[in-house]
Amino acid sequence: MTRPGPDGGYGSWILSVPGNRHAGGGQPGSRRYRVDMHKIPLHECDHRYATDAYAPGDLLRHLVQVRDGECSFTGCSHNATQCDFEHTVPWHEGGATDGCNGAMRSRRCHKVKQSRGWTVTQPQPGWHQWQAPSGRTYTKGPKSYPA
Ligand SMILES: [Zn+2]
Ligand SMILES: [Zn+2]
Repeated sequence: MTRPGPDGGYGSWILSVPGNRHAGGGQPGSRRYRVDMHKIPLHECDHRYATDAYAPGDLLRHLVQVRDGECSFTGCSHNATQCDFEHTVPWHEGGATDGCNGAMRSRRCHKVKQSRGWTVTQPQPGWHQWQAPSGRTYTKGPKSYPA
C-alpha cells in the first residue's frame, strides 16, 4: 500500500512528511500519510500539511486552492489557480505555512491586504475576514461545490 497516487490526480495519495513538527494525525512512528482529497483544511486543521518552509508543498497549495476556489477577498472572483498562496499571518511574523494560515489571493487583493489600515485574519480555516480602514469587516467563506 505504498504506491503513490496518480501524478497530479485526485483520489488518495501517499504523502511523505519529513520533519513534521506538528504530531497530529497519522500512525505513530510513521511519516507516511494516506491523504484523501476531501481532507481539506476546513473548520479545524490538524496541521498535517504544515511545512517549515516558506513555500507550501504542491499538495497543500492544491488543497487551499480547492477550498478557497477563488481569491479570498469578498467581491473578487479571481480564480484560485491564478492566485498566490499567501500567509494570513505573515511568515516572517511566525505565521505557519499551513491550511489554517494559507489563503489564495490575487495580486491586487494581496496589495490591498498589505496597505495601511487593512487587517486580515482567518478565524477558522477557510474563513477569511478582512477589516477595512473604516472598521467594517467582510468575511468570505470557502467555495461551495455542488454535492
Ligand atoms: Zn493548521
Ligand atoms: Zn482578489
